[in-house]
Amino acid sequence: MKYTINQFRKDYPNDDVCLDAIFAMRWGKQPCCPGCSQQTTFKRIPGRRCYQCSDKDCQYQLYPTAGTVFEKTRTSLVDWFYAIYLMTSTRNGVAAKELQRQLGVTYKCAHRMGHQIRKLMGSPDGLLTGVVEIDEVYIGGDRKNKSKSIRSGSKIKGYMEKTPVLTLLQRDGNIISKVLDVSTGDTIRPVVLDNVAPGSQIITDGFKAYMTLEKTYKHEIINHAIDEWGRGIFHTNTVEGFFSHLKRTIKGTHISVSRQHLQKYADECAFRYTHRHEGQLMFHTILGRVVR
Ligand SMILES: [Zn+2]
Repeated sequence: MKYTINQFRKDYPNDDVCLDAIFAMRWGKQPCCPGCSQQTTFKRIPGRRCYQCSDKDCQYQLYPTAGTVFEKTRTSLVDWFYAIYLMTSTRNGVAAKELQRQLGVTYKCAHRMGHQIRKLMGSPDGLLTGVVEIDEVYIGGDRKNKSKSIRSGSKIKGYMEKTPVLTLLQRDGNIISKVLDVSTGDTIRPVVLDNVAPGSQIITDGFKAYMTLEKTYKHEIINHAIDEWGRGIFHTNTVEGFFSHLKRTIKGTHISVSRQHLQKYADECAFRYTHRHEGQLMFHTILGRVVR
């Protein structure tokens, strides 16, 4: 279900409500107090991002934003929540310029917030399993090299400007995207081995960098070289769908992306694509990661 702006405004109308929400996420409604070891209630100290144990002999204090991205900024919690809302509710993400306009903060601030939220979108928990499609896409670089094959190992002149993004996509599950310096067996295989559970069914094309993975996985190869694009459930169409989404996002929202930031945009895109049917849940997933 879509999380509408009206519902969002109703849920988080001001900083006090946001702070209560962060407190509840970290410790629940009646936490066990670290000071007096009792299950107790905490009262907000007005004007501060602080709650105090209601036992008058204890008065232990908890700081919900301590250690989170919210801690050391002058940006209000409502603005942070709204930025997370925007970044999780729009189809292709939000550029810094748009955050700046909507929040009325400086460009530098908007840019930083965007990247911090993007960071929270990275790194899903646990290994991929089941059926996993694996492929690479090549982002950026020189226009005239566009149509050429740029898979390497062999360092062909001019090709190095494009950046390979290796993507592992579990059907009906998480997506992991890694920006690589070059795409070779030595760079690709460790990423697969680190992120896909042994024994899973992997599907790749015939690129030689994927060879030897059959020692660890059930490995189905779709051989594009002989014009083969799939056999029944064995295809890489889902991961290719994700690549279109990634390219559209970068082109449409961010115009171009430096190599340095590409990993963050790939993480953002993977997160949004994985959770695209979840609406409100997506917002709360990110909020949950803030306090994790
Ligand atoms: Zn206490």
